[in-house]
Amino acid sequence: MNTRRAILALLFFCAVGAYLTGLLQPVDQWIREKRFQFGSRPVSGEVVTVDIDAVSIDQLGQWPWKRSVYGEVVDRLNELGASIIAFDVDFSSPSTPEEDLAFAEAMARSTAPVYLASFNQPTNAGAETLYGNQPIETFTAVARLAMVNVFADRDAVIRTFPFGAMVDEQPVQSIAAVLAKYSGLINGSFYIDFGIDIDSLDRIPLIDLLNGKVDRERVDGKRLIIGASAAELRDFFSVPRFGIISGHTLQAAATETLIQNRTLQLSSGLVVLGLTVVMAVLAIWRRKRGALVPTLLTLAAGMVVLEAAATTIQAMEAYALQTASSHLVLLFFGAFSVVQEIDLKRIMLLISESRADNAQAILDRVISDNSEGIVVVSEDSTVHTLNKSAETFFRNVVHATETLAPDLTGMPLNELAPEALVAAVQMDMSAAREGHIGQREPTLIDKTYDTHGRHVLEYIVTPSILAGGVDLSGKKQPDRVFACVNFRDVTERHIREERARFLARFDPVTGLPNKNGFIEFLEGVPDGHVALADYSAVCRIAISRLQSVQDTLGQDFADDILNLVATRLSEAIGPGEYLASTMDNGFHLYLIATTQDQLDKRMSGLLEMISKPYFHGGHGATVGASAGITVLDDLDCPPETLLKRAKSALNDAISEDGNTFAIYAPELDLRIQVRQQLELDLWKAFEEKQFVNFYQPQINLADGSLYGAEALIRWIHPERGFVSPADFIPIAEQSSLIVDMGEWAMNQACIDAATWPGSPKIAVNLSPVQFFQGDLVRTVEDALKNSGLHKDRLDLEITESLFMEDTGRILDLMSALRAMGLRFALDDFGTGYSSLAYIQNFPMDKIKIDQAFVRGMQEDSSSLSIVRAVADLARGLNMETVAEGVETDVERRLVSQVGCSVGQGYLFSKPLPAEDMTKFAENMAAAKSS
Ligand code: C2E
Ligand code: CA
Ligand code: CA
Repeated sequence: MNTRRAILALLFFCAVGAYLTGLLQPVDQWIREKRFQFGSRPVSGEVVTVDIDAVSIDQLGQWPWKRSVYGEVVDRLNELGASIIAFDVDFSSPSTPEEDLAFAEAMARSTAPVYLASFNQPTNAGAETLYGNQPIETFTAVARLAMVNVFADRDAVIRTFPFGAMVDEQPVQSIAAVLAKYSGLINGSFYIDFGIDIDSLDRIPLIDLLNGKVDRERVDGKRLIIGASAAELRDFFSVPRFGIISGHTLQAAATETLIQNRTLQLSSGLVVLGLTVVMAVLAIWRRKRGALVPTLLTLAAGMVVLEAAATTIQAMEAYALQTASSHLVLLFFGAFSVVQEIDLKRIMLLISESRADNAQAILDRVISDNSEGIVVVSEDSTVHTLNKSAETFFRNVVHATETLAPDLTGMPLNELAPEALVAAVQMDMSAAREGHIGQREPTLIDKTYDTHGRHVLEYIVTPSILAGGVDLSGKKQPDRVFACVNFRDVTERHIREERARFLARFDPVTGLPNKNGFIEFLEGVPDGHVALADYSAVCRIAISRLQSVQDTLGQDFADDILNLVATRLSEAIGPGEYLASTMDNGFHLYLIATTQDQLDKRMSGLLEMISKPYFHGGHGATVGASAGITVLDDLDCPPETLLKRAKSALNDAISEDGNTFAIYAPELDLRIQVRQQLELDLWKAFEEKQFVNFYQPQINLADGSLYGAEALIRWIHPERGFVSPADFIPIAEQSSLIVDMGEWAMNQACIDAATWPGSPKIAVNLSPVQFFQGDLVRTVEDALKNSGLHKDRLDLEITESLFMEDTGRILDLMSALRAMGLRFALDDFGTGYSSLAYIQNFPMDKIKIDQAFVRGMQEDSSSLSIVRAVADLARGLNMETVAEGVETDVERRLVSQVGCSVGQGYLFSKPLPAEDMTKFAENMAAAKSS
């Protein structure tokens, strides 16, 4: 049993308790009396009153009247055929004997029995003991007695009437019992039925009777009660339904009750209550929650039916059902249902309302605070709702120059949003109306606004259909279409993406397409092209010496120069040709040519054009250019392969000489493969210590003594035997291997040289790479420290190619090393640019004249004079000149003549293994000392 039922049970007990303790009696009484009105019944007509009313008193003069008047009344009534006459008048005190006698005689004469009032009366006001108030003996002798006492309830209302009482120890029937000819016991009382309409009693004013104005049929056979109805006689009582009535009217009512056999029987309330309880319990157990109104209606109907039944029963059967407790139970039940229902319903309502409120509030907030612009558009393309972001965008960007209405809702969308958006919304809405609602793709609007410049808007339209429902007349309403537009400003993102897209295909410096762009172009070269232009080619151009431009004039200047190169190139190419950037100071070029010769001329022309000086920003600069070319003889060849071929041709051109171009040939690939294999082998060989240093002695030309030796590295290949450094150094230079190798060679050279007698010098070759990778200064320091060789004995050989690179860094390093006491020799002088400027600009101590020069001196007088000039300049700068590759005595004499101080070559000795070199040095030392 749940709480609900427990409460209900408690209410039932309360109702039963209220009934049992009599608490409900006033209610029952009230109900009963109300029923009198509804179950009103006529008087029997048997009882007639003779009223001592105001008019009678007025006409008969002063009160009390002479007793003979009553005698006259008795006579008149007898004449008219009354059947019983009862006086509700106090005759307990005598008047004059004559008058008393007159009355007594009249009564004696009367054929109808005459009753006089007899009543009990307290001795004093409020006293317990009663005394009988009897008519005087003169009357009692001729009349009978009827008790007229009545007993009021606590509320001073008369509801019952006694059957009789003991008056002066004599049983006396009440006036009602007498008039009704009641034959039962005198004790007890009965409920007067005020349902009898005593207002319709026949009342005869006493004066009318005396004046003979009363018809016989009003009295004939009737029972008459004579009593006072005049207000001044104060014989009045309060009764239900009728309010204040006179004493004899009350007696009439009681009499009527008895005559009509209407003494009200009161039912036990318990029976009705019991039934009600059973019904209610059944009802509540079967009751459905939520059916409050039906429940209340049922209860009300129950009460009405119950009361109607009770009223009917009371009216018909004089049986008063005590229904108060039943009503109470039903009311309790109703109240309980209401409370319960109200509670549940209200709580549920509150919850659902607050939930809805919350949901709505959250939704509103979410929309208004959303950083995206949100606009809900009605079917007629007006703005239904819009949030702050949307409003801001419309006001500050789209309509920055005009002033919009303070409230934008309700405005046509086309007066607010960009046209493209309006069009999209209208299109999507009409599509939705036709049932096409699908996932929408975000769309961009890229627009430049008057004051706010470019804005890229990303928007998505979501149409929604609101079912139309039915209107009051039952007509189906059409569905409504809404569209929600979400948009955001993606300008920054878009510009970034654009830039990324640009960078993916273009070079930021020159603005030319990059490698990807070039590949795309190559993929698009039409098939027929190759047949028409047999020598169309993919070229790769590398610009050199841009680094030194950058070192001296800065990055921006170098970029500008590169741009100028690009401009020259793009101006030089013709229709159908294509220029792209390699992004590493180079270009890809698609050239159209019909003959090999034409292609060669084109390319040398372009390289020459690039090499011409640039004048920019008040400065002049020159750059070098090399190119690799691959002829496009096969369109099936993937662009990537073409690019690789051009690259390897370029490498070939650079390794040749630079400032030239090479045309790709399949052998190049082979060479590359060999080279790659060699590189792998080199690494392995280095790890396996397959390298040794040979040393080639250098001789003082003046006296033939040992000046020093140059360390020349050798690879003792397990199969190929000694491999020349000319074959593997360039490969080692393409990776960091050269750094390790150079470091090893220097270390070993110092260790070996340290053992030579006579302290000859040791010259070690340095690769330019060693200036940029690894720590050259530390390598030198470590080599000297490890070997214990004096720093004065170590010479470093560098080549001109070093000065193509970052001159600042090279100068720094050279200065640092010279400061340590080392000397620099410029190797291979005469092969490259052979610019005397290097000698002056870089801290050099020695110039090694290349063997090609030494060889050329014999045939070519200009070579001779150049060598002489160099030697003179060197001497002037306090530098030594070393002649390389001296193979013959003639050469020795010549180089000596032009002023070279040191000679190196097979004439003196081939490069020697370390122990042979030691012996050589020992011999030389011995020869010197001898
Ligand atoms: P290089 O520095 O010019 O060395 C001189 C080259 O001329 C050596 O060739 C030597 O064997 C050769 N030679 C010397 N006298 C004569 C001669 O009278 N007639 C002829 N025909 N040739 C002569 P090698 O040893 O093959 O070295 C080639 C190049 O390898 C060297 O040229 C040098 O640039 C480089 N190299 C050698 N060792 C090293 C090294 O340890 N480090 C670096 N970076 N380069 C090295
Ligand atoms: Ca050398
Ligand atoms: Ca050399």
